[in-house]
Amino acid sequence: MNNFKRDLIVAKFGGTSLADSSQIKKVAEIIKSDSARRYVVASAPGKRFKDDVKITDMLYKCHKNFLNGEDFSGELEKISLRYEDIVKELGIDFDITTEIETIKSTLKTTKAPDYLASRGEYLNSKIIAKFLGFEFVDASEIIFFNENGTLDENKTFSTANERLKNIPYAVIPGFYGILPDANIKTFSRGGSDVTGSIIARSVKADLYENWTDVSGMLSADPRIVKNPKVITYITYTELRELSYMGASVLHEDAVFPVRKAGIPINIRNTNSPQDEGTLISSSVPKNLIRRPITGIAGRKGFSSIRVEKSMMNGQTGFGAKLLYIFAKNDVPFEHCPTGIDTISVIVNSELFDSKREEILREIKNELDPDFITIEKNLAAIAVVGEGMINSKGIAAKIFEAVAKAGINIRMIDQGSDELNIIIGVDESDYELTINSLYELPLIS
Ligand code: ASP
Repeated sequence: MNNFKRDLIVAKFGGTSLADSSQIKKVAEIIKSDSARRYVVASAPGKRFKDDVKITDMLYKCHKNFLNGEDFSGELEKISLRYEDIVKELGIDFDITTEIETIKSTLKTTKAPDYLASRGEYLNSKIIAKFLGFEFVDASEIIFFNENGTLDENKTFSTANERLKNIPYAVIPGFYGILPDANIKTFSRGGSDVTGSIIARSVKADLYENWTDVSGMLSADPRIVKNPKVITYITYTELRELSYMGASVLHEDAVFPVRKAGIPINIRNTNSPQDEGTLISSSVPKNLIRRPITGIAGRKGFSSIRVEKSMMNGQTGFGAKLLYIFAKNDVPFEHCPTGIDTISVIVNSELFDSKREEILREIKNELDPDFITIEKNLAAIAVVGEGMINSKGIAAKIFEAVAKAGINIRMIDQGSDELNIIIGVDESDYELTINSLYELPLIS
């Protein structure tokens, strides 16, 4: 994984990587082991053990109490104590009491939860900067939102670049930025990933490292497949397909800033830093031999609305009219396999059920079909891999594996870019289908 330049790295550490002083010490070792790790983006302290509470969740609770006019000092005290422990155990001089007092008084002037929620990252980053001897650069100085809540990309990229270019080493809090009215705004949950990506893009980093508590992205859901392999290399396109179907490793919005700039992302494990993790980039190294399938992911909860009309293929605009009915009713379609006289629209069952009567009425009125058949409880499974494009017989092997397991395939769809094959099965066959596909010796 060493065949590209890595002179400038932005390293983002997630909540479990920074949950307490011993984790922060591990992180410091990682940062200090490579002088290219110049910009560190930090999350708030996460869970230290299974039933622990994340600082961000404690802050949201605190804000709820505050809005309800209830006493929130107990909750704030608990938060303060967690930071006090960290500060003490790291052996640094940091006045947490004054910081908490400032938060308390600022809170009185804000209604939205964002300011308080952002303080988890703010305090943790200040502490980590002090421990590392790095400069603290507040996200409110360099991450800008438009009035409508979208990121002001141009202002953010140029200001962050300008502010950071002469700072050799800095810690920046993840998760938030500032609105034109000077109020703090957070990204959605898990948003420190997005901050890391924005900083990487702004400083034109060679690599965006995303340090978490797993050794990379897995080629299948470990709750379904026993010990699935870690994906070593994955392209952005493959990642998008797998994430869309439920595989989660990064905040969805974290991909776009770095992808546009061609900066690879490396998912790494703070608790096992010797593991190479997963490298996400536009293309995989030329000399790398990968198996055709990169990963398998899926979701339950789909319905298929199959519309049949003889001589449909001779009619212009039948498909367009059908899809427009779904669009008008705010039900996006996921897949749309077609036959000569049939067309099926695969949709999220919950969304469809909320508009079912209107949609069916409109289909009947506007398209006058011979039959409409609705199948519920469908699961869709995506088999994803750019290697499938040039390999022959992969689809045959996939369908054979499913057939051998005695599973009835209810829908097949191949993406137009040929990098995925989607199989629809009954929800009750979901786990078995994934396992029988995973047994194929085709996974990278
Ligand atoms: N602390 C925030 C959360 O728990 C953001 C993050 O960690 O990325 O969602």
